[in-house]
Amino acid sequence: MVEIIRKLRRPPILTSSAIPCLRHLPTINITEGCALGCSYCYIQGYSHYPGPERVILFENTAEVVRDELRRKRKRPRRVYFSPSSDAFQYLPEVQEVTFQTMSVLLEAGIEVAFLTKGFVADRFLQLFKGAPQLVFAQIGITSLDPGVWRTFEPRTGPPSQRVESIRSLRGIGIETTARLDPLIPDLTDTEANMNPLLAALREAGVTRASASFLFLRQCFADRLSAQLDGFMLAGSVLAWRYQDFVDGCGGGRMTSLEDRALRFERLSTLCGQHGIRLNACRCKNPELGGSGCLIAGPAPVPADPTAPQSLFECR
Ligand code: SF4
Repeated sequence: MVEIIRKLRRPPILTSSAIPCLRHLPTINITEGCALGCSYCYIQGYSHYPGPERVILFENTAEVVRDELRRKRKRPRRVYFSPSSDAFQYLPEVQEVTFQTMSVLLEAGIEVAFLTKGFVADRFLQLFKGAPQLVFAQIGITSLDPGVWRTFEPRTGPPSQRVESIRSLRGIGIETTARLDPLIPDLTDTEANMNPLLAALREAGVTRASASFLFLRQCFADRLSAQLDGFMLAGSVLAWRYQDFVDGCGGGRMTSLEDRALRFERLSTLCGQHGIRLNACRCKNPELGGSGCLIAGPAPVPADPTAPQSLFECR
């Protein structure tokens, strides 16, 4: 059971993230820590990570945002949820603060962008219905396989429910893309895993997806490796090749650039066969170019290839 610690937040809230592709717009974390508990989550290495069974809930977020908007001379055009947590965690207390905060922004005519693997409850659909042009959604999903879900993302929304969220969001006119991230080489980027997933996504209306491969950090490498060994023993993959993770930055490791380039090419072809256009996450794959991963919706993410490269450097 996840413990919720309530805290009051001090302004300013509307500050940008250190994540390169989010540096240009304000971001909000409703919580510190995340109850969804993905094995590969990099926040486990943060100094303020409260641990896997605890989240710190900033319960006055909506109030502070309202106040900040009142004082600001220049209001932001768009706000992103959430760079280091998930705004749609299953905890009703978290959902309530997310709902209040998004309501304040939408009432002020400010766009809301989010990436989630959580639970987009009906009341959010009702809220978004009032201004679908102000909302940009990206749903994270890498497999329909219940074993993959239960092992690596145990408290996220079930894959079938996430596909339904895509359908519902698109159904009310919200631009919704899929995020295939993090793909685990030879486990979730295989044709056997991808074909049914891409077919389901396309059927739910997805035409654009972004992807990135597993970025291994020391804080979770051992646990994840043990879980992957479990899959290997069960015969799902021939060999888990984390020893081959050589490239990377900011203390993390990925498979080599050559290996990733091949995998992206294969995945892109597969996506194309399903009528889905694929983009690589540019923060973690700056060498591969591309127009970016739409993490916070289309513009205002710089799509200009002449944009300063530093925006996309890995940290
Ligand atoms: S949903 Fe995102 S922030 Fe939450 S545990 Fe999973 S990867 Fe981390």
